[in-house]
Amino acid sequence: MQIFAARSARREIVRIMIPVKGYAARSATSALAPFAFERRELRPKDVLIDILYCGICHSDLHLVRNEWGRSIYPMVPGHEIVGRVIENGKHARRFKKGDVAAVGCFVDSCRKCSNCKDGLQQYCTGGLILTYNSYEKDGKTITRGGYSTRIVVDEDYLLKVPPKLPLEKVAPLLCAGITTYSPLRYWEVGKGHNVAVLGLGGLGHMAVKFASAFGAEVTVLSGSPNKQRDAKRMGASDFVLTRDAEKMQDLSNHFDFTIDTVSAGHDLDSYLALLRTNGVMICVGLPSGEEQLSPFNLVLGRRSIAGSLIGGLPETQEMLNYCGRHNITADVEVIPIQQVNSTYKRILKSDVRYRFVIDLASLK
Ligand SMILES: [Zn+2]
Ligand SMILES: [Zn+2]
Repeated sequence: MQIFAARSARREIVRIMIPVKGYAARSATSALAPFAFERRELRPKDVLIDILYCGICHSDLHLVRNEWGRSIYPMVPGHEIVGRVIENGKHARRFKKGDVAAVGCFVDSCRKCSNCKDGLQQYCTGGLILTYNSYEKDGKTITRGGYSTRIVVDEDYLLKVPPKLPLEKVAPLLCAGITTYSPLRYWEVGKGHNVAVLGLGGLGHMAVKFASAFGAEVTVLSGSPNKQRDAKRMGASDFVLTRDAEKMQDLSNHFDFTIDTVSAGHDLDSYLALLRTNGVMICVGLPSGEEQLSPFNLVLGRRSIAGSLIGGLPETQEMLNYCGRHNITADVEVIPIQQVNSTYKRILKSDVRYRFVIDLASLK
């Protein structure tokens, strides 16, 4: 009897953690490299997911290089995750084995604050737990993201993916998609609105697709002349080079909304001048520096500058369902994880059409 107990105890010890392969940054200056780690054993409401695809978000680059000053190493980035359910915890019922499940930018939150109760978990005031570079509720386990083979997530924080969409193109919807969908819905952007999308990268290309699907007239403001044809294909009716001073001047007082997706430093004042009276500039990109802003361009024209962060669980699900109904997905270039470092260099040169997605089969 005693022997049996010892054995089963030992078996339990062996089963406590789930081994996972990933890629991690070990410091702000080191390249991403293979990294073996463990996920927690399934709690009753947990789901174990075999990761198929993970998008590369510009935040991954900022965080890997500690540009926001709060990075935890070793860091396994990745918060645009699509995978297949391989195991359910005792009380996890939302998914069956083999179902597709998606994970976005957060994996838990306090569940008690007014924002959590309103389904605005992204603005949780009691402690949002990000998919990576965050601590779990125990305050010591570092969360690790989707540049890895498997992830364990509480079923309440998983999203369902509508059928028939190509999964590698779905992955970027979990951050780039919801980041642009949410403000467009909040400000009720649609027919009769002129919308500028500043920057045509991962966020920008999704903003163009959603804003045009909602019926707005979309103009892309970009620094890359070779993106014009793509912008039109995605639904933009106009494309203006930001260095074309004359054309930019023509757009003064023109837009009802600007979706600013730029994640490098830029001159907000010159773009504010393009808004008409009551126009709103919505920032969704997060540059690493501090931006300068003159109140003049706000006061003259009662303009506003606003920000928006991803979306809560109900809205993220609504966005995915909308994409399923309207066949909207991201434009992606799929890479094996072994190319992640050279891909980061391409992203820094804006050589992206329009989101890189890691095929995790390359790590298995
Ligand atoms: Zn992101
Ligand atoms: Zn909360």
